[in-house]
Amino acid sequence: MAKRQITFLITAGPTLEDLDPVRFLSNRSSGKMGYALAEAALKTRHKVVLISGPTSLKKPKGAKFIPVRSARDMLTATLKQAPHADIIIKSAAVADYRPYKTRSKKIKKNTNRLTLTLIKNPDILKVLGKHKKNTQLLVGFAAETHAVLHHAQKKLFEKRVDWLAVNDVSRKDIGFDADENELLLLARDGRQLSFVKQSKSSLAKELITLFANEWSNKFGTPPKP
Ligand code: C5P
Repeated sequence: MAKRQITFLITAGPTLEDLDPVRFLSNRSSGKMGYALAEAALKTRHKVVLISGPTSLKKPKGAKFIPVRSARDMLTATLKQAPHADIIIKSAAVADYRPYKTRSKKIKKNTNRLTLTLIKNPDILKVLGKHKKNTQLLVGFAAETHAVLHHAQKKLFEKRVDWLAVNDVSRKDIGFDADENELLLLARDGRQLSFVKQSKSSLAKELITLFANEWSNKFGTPPKP
């Protein structure tokens, strides 16, 4: 069957939440998994929009690349691109909290104790889940350190995603900032698929093939008789 080109919207990397002109809060995400997914989708001749927090990785050639800094920037960019996407993969490690106030001047070290007040960032995936079109597949990533399956199942339903890729980030050899990954993929319909430890690029190929086939089988244009 001639399958039509699929548009992937992929988010990757960390977000940076500014504290003052020289400091920010962030996390250890390297962006490698998201960029590997973008490369794999481009290799299979799909369209790719990559929205990325700051990383040291090279922009994938052929993708529409949208750099962002904070979770709120990522929300704005993602909501703008989402209506044009068939498959949305949210592999970015979005900061859950940001400083309540971003100081315009550098914080001085005048006191022994400094208390930061943080405020919750918007949950981009949850917003996408609410507005998901009938012909879209939504994929989330979840980094867990404990009670992995329990937390993942909860997220799958709360965020209304079709697939949730679960990482055990208590391990140093996989996941955050590593070159390899091992995943458990949970589907909304109850399927559970395990992906053995392998390079992020080979894992990305397997995931893109699976999501593209799933989308084509569900929503792809049927072949002409
Ligand atoms: O709740 P948790 O952060 O573990 O969920 C992970 C998934 O939710 C990832 O796909 C991540 O990109 C997304 N997320 C988001 N906005 C947030 C927090 C997480 O889109 N504020």
